[in-house]
Amino acid sequence: MDKQLVTVSMGMKKADLAVVNGKIVNVYSKEVYDGGVAVSNGKIAAVGDIKYCIGEDTKIIDAKGKYLLPGFIDGHIHPESTNLSIRSFAEIVLTHGTTAVMADMHEVGVVGGLEAIEAVLDEAQATDLKIYFVVPSHVPFAPGLETSGGFFNSEIIKKALSHRDAVGLSEIVAPYLLQGNAELIKAMEIASSMGKSLQGHLPEDEGTSYECLYVSGRQY
Ligand SMILES: [Zn+2]
Repeated sequence: MDKQLVTVSMGMKKADLAVVNGKIVNVYSKEVYDGGVAVSNGKIAAVGDIKYCIGEDTKIIDAKGKYLLPGFIDGHIHPESTNLSIRSFAEIVLTHGTTAVMADMHEVGVVGGLEAIEAVLDEAQATDLKIYFVVPSHVPFAPGLETSGGFFNSEIIKKALSHRDAVGLSEIVAPYLLQGNAELIKAMEIASSMGKSLQGHLPEDEGTSYECLYVSGRQY
């Protein structure tokens, strides 16, 4: 716990920044009420009536009645499909309130492999957008049907899962899984053993529902 945050929240020290005259959207209690946000050292120290956190040196931003709420998290998006560089992408989505995205950069991998994906993740460090990297489970998507500069096997996926931004394995699709694709199952087991999440899609036909799958004795 940041000691300075506690002292600012208790009014013993003043905030660096105060956003005042906002409408707080409390996503826990589902209430909207007047208030502001006090920031110290880049972190939120207090929310609500924060007048006591304001000192002579506190920078004040007047929200003029605008809503103040936590940043949106986009649970699945391919930034590269916008044809924008990650910096331009970040600039645009941040303007609309999205502060974090789950992205696998699959198409970047198809063009340039893991090295290219890592270059994009490094470039993203220069932005205020948080990228949760979900490692693409198949690069290219349809081997033999597309020309690809990058190719992922379970070894490369393991390396990618060790990346500082990696949180899971992405786009595990039903056809490959149900065919028992050995490399895919190996990658899923590696991801699980590393404590990473498994994300994907399954079809739901009329009368058929896959609530979970069992592969190699493990429940998915
Ligand atoms: Zn997708």
